[in-house]
Amino acid sequence: MTVSPKPIAELKNKIKFVLSDLDDTITTEGHIPSESYSALWKLKDSDIKTIIVTGRPAGWCEMMARTWPIDGVIGENGAFFFRYTNKHMRRFFASSPELIETNTAKLDIIKNEILQTIPESKISSDQFCRMFDLAVDICEDIPPLSKEQTATIISIFEKHGAQAKLSSIHVNGWFGTYDKLTTAKFILTNEFGLTEEQIQTSCVYAGDSPNDEPLFSYFENGVGVRNIEPYLPILKSKPKYITQHAAGKGFQELTEKIIQLSR
Ligand SMILES: [Mg+2]
Repeated sequence: MTVSPKPIAELKNKIKFVLSDLDDTITTEGHIPSESYSALWKLKDSDIKTIIVTGRPAGWCEMMARTWPIDGVIGENGAFFFRYTNKHMRRFFASSPELIETNTAKLDIIKNEILQTIPESKISSDQFCRMFDLAVDICEDIPPLSKEQTATIISIFEKHGAQAKLSSIHVNGWFGTYDKLTTAKFILTNEFGLTEEQIQTSCVYAGDSPNDEPLFSYFENGVGVRNIEPYLPILKSKPKYITQHAAGKGFQELTEKIIQLSR
């Protein structure tokens, strides 16, 4: 039976940790609106920890971990976690940095095959900031590819034994068994000392895309921002809650509810 997400107004738990996707969950049309950035500060001021969970590259995550009012970033779909605390950058890698060279060579073969098969596709402009994955642009800087073209890109990754996940802007592919969920669970347990029960009662996960699905399947308090709606029919694991507003405004709506519950 398919269960539709409930309005965010029905969230009841006191939340201590907000894990959130970045693109089209905190951002709106590629920018961070003032309400999203202000929402991050309000969470911090309310003593609620925020962890960004994104497919974006190591270079971006270094900057976010260092300069944003957050408690860490999981990047490249779970390849690593960076947390800047007490003037020290703590780093956890799910994939061994020693494998970068070998995996980059294997991803290069995949890259060439994708560009030959789908000439309209493009490697993401942030690829040079990446350590572990290959990101193929499907609509960020190019006209949107069709669903069939996107599916072909995913199948090329998978044919070569790589994992591939679809975000709202890229197809990301990598070698390794990690994903956003495995790293999120590891970090919540080992870095923040939460038990399984505490994770389920005191954390929310917010996202907008199929690459957030593993987290929606695990977190009891999974929240989709409104722009997830077109993907709901293809998601086997749907978020339990949905915001009224899309993207950054939806994130703000979620944080207001969480802060209200924390009082
Ligand atoms: Mg997203």
